[in-house]
Amino acid sequence: MKISSAEFVMSNSDVAKCPKNSLPEYAFIGRSNVGKSSLINMLMQRKSLAKTSGRPGKTQLINHFIINKNWYLVDLPGYGYARVSKSTKKVFQKFITQYFEKRQQLVLAFVLVDCRHEPQKIDLEFMQWMGENQIPFSIIFTKADKLKPNVLSKNIEAYTQKMLENWEEMPTYFVTSSSKGIGREELLAYIDAINQQVNSN
Ligand code: GDP
Repeated sequence: MKISSAEFVMSNSDVAKCPKNSLPEYAFIGRSNVGKSSLINMLMQRKSLAKTSGRPGKTQLINHFIINKNWYLVDLPGYGYARVSKSTKKVFQKFITQYFEKRQQLVLAFVLVDCRHEPQKIDLEFMQWMGENQIPFSIIFTKADKLKPNVLSKNIEAYTQKMLENWEEMPTYFVTSSSKGIGREELLAYIDAINQQVNSN
């Protein structure tokens, strides 16, 4: 898929205020600092469409971007950020939950995971919750350039094994690096294929 336009639409913390039309949308979520903003900018080939974090946790809103005028990319707040106060954390978790439960237009969520780390409890719990609520998701491993290829495959294999303790199969996953542009074509082709399916229904 060629990206011919990528525009910011709106930010809010209320799913009821999200865009009303029925364009398919894809949400991006993960722990703070996982590389979400960098990935979005890499996918869209824009320097600062999504803000890269100086201070993690500052983008605590649901951010809609319209891509090629026919689908939405949704940048969700990073979770698991300790520096926000407990009450702020609670509120943003609630509206994220509501977003996932209520947003009819959501086709798929991408859960971002740093390929360098062992499976983290918060990510596993979040994916578990997504599964229980029947919200389709794929995994995006980020920062692949930071590992040697053999370590990278070992980590992904270990992650797969961990997932298989709770899941019948490993969800579709992508290996990416924003600094090297790895995974861009694959991810965009995947979204494109789903968009075509959605449009033909
Ligand atoms: P966010 O908080 O999830 O939006 O994360 P950012 O996109 O702001 O990235 C967090 C940090 O990781 C920044 O210092 C980025 O430069 C760095 N980073 C993000 N993606 C990559 C990547 O693919 N490769 C490398 N080497 N660093 C990355």
